[in-house]
Amino acid sequence: MKLKDLGEFGFIDRIRPETLVRPESVILGIGDDCSVCRSSPDRVTLLTTDLLVGGVHFHLEKIPPDLLGRKSIAVNLSDIAAMGGFPKQALVSIAIPDTTRVETLDAIYEGMKSMAREFDVNLVGGDTTASPEHLVINVALVGEAREEEVLYRSGALKDDVVFLTGPVGDSAAGLDILLENRSFDGKDSLVQTHLNPRPHLKEGRIIATQKAAHSMIDVSDGLAGDLGHVCARSGVGAIVEEARIPTTELFRAYCERFGLDATRLATHVGEDYVLLGTVPENSAATLEKALESAGCGFYRIGRIVEEPGIRLTARDGSTRKIKPSGWNHFA
Ligand code: ADP
Ligand code: MG
Repeated sequence: MKLKDLGEFGFIDRIRPETLVRPESVILGIGDDCSVCRSSPDRVTLLTTDLLVGGVHFHLEKIPPDLLGRKSIAVNLSDIAAMGGFPKQALVSIAIPDTTRVETLDAIYEGMKSMAREFDVNLVGGDTTASPEHLVINVALVGEAREEEVLYRSGALKDDVVFLTGPVGDSAAGLDILLENRSFDGKDSLVQTHLNPRPHLKEGRIIATQKAAHSMIDVSDGLAGDLGHVCARSGVGAIVEEARIPTTELFRAYCERFGLDATRLATHVGEDYVLLGTVPENSAATLEKALESAGCGFYRIGRIVEEPGIRLTARDGSTRKIKPSGWNHFA
């Protein structure tokens, strides 16, 4: 069998059987933004890890090394945010080709430390090896949460409001600018969102402490893909209103200027690292107020429905099915 036929998520499903030999200490293993293990009667430990491979996830010619360091921590912080937890300790493993300059590595670690400092995370260990060709960075993060506050992908219920904590699309445009070497007024801001995303930990904590949301995920694979994960795990579907998907003016101007399909970029390309959640209608206004009074965003984009799959309602009222797909390695 070829990996291509299985896809990234098919591969992960294949790994799942027989992974838990002491299931009593594990609340959730494979299947969400973090795994959730019991640490004390009312506290849980959140564990997450992300692997960044040169040539696959980043190109050292396209990203300044300090931002690569920041991003490698940020994507893990975002997974902790998506569960409603607080990050605590980080482990960093790195495989280094012998052509890598020490100054580059110094800058990568400077970036990691600055991001860790901003979010109160200790860097407590890791591993270092040689690599035959590409730079490989793996960050593992340990976080903590109150058990009753943890938000899973699997909790969405019919009629929930689907919301985002920030605009999507800027990161996709930023990536496009880097890959196509485009010049555009205001491009720095778009590129910055791609290279230096802000994990929505503050938003995640507010949503968790409000205890109203039913489910949450971070938008790493793309809006459609990540909403697809929530729907698949929750056994529901969703309808998203195209006109309500929050995007920045700069993003819309960029798409117009280069004739790009703004909806496709905003829904099927990821790495915005905002949070996507679902909340029952009667709690949505309270949650919105809590987020907005803390200077955070709350954008209603649609509804959870019984019928599986994701549908997009266009501005003219017509509805079409969209693929619940975003980034998928091997696909
Ligand atoms: P995210 O995009 O939030 O980082 P992923 O889609 O990478 O999440 O992973 C989904 C789930 O599969 C997570 O629970 C993750 O821990 C698990 N997972 C991914 N790859 C592997 C692997 N090679 N072995 C075991 N578990 C994995
Ligand atoms: Mg995630």
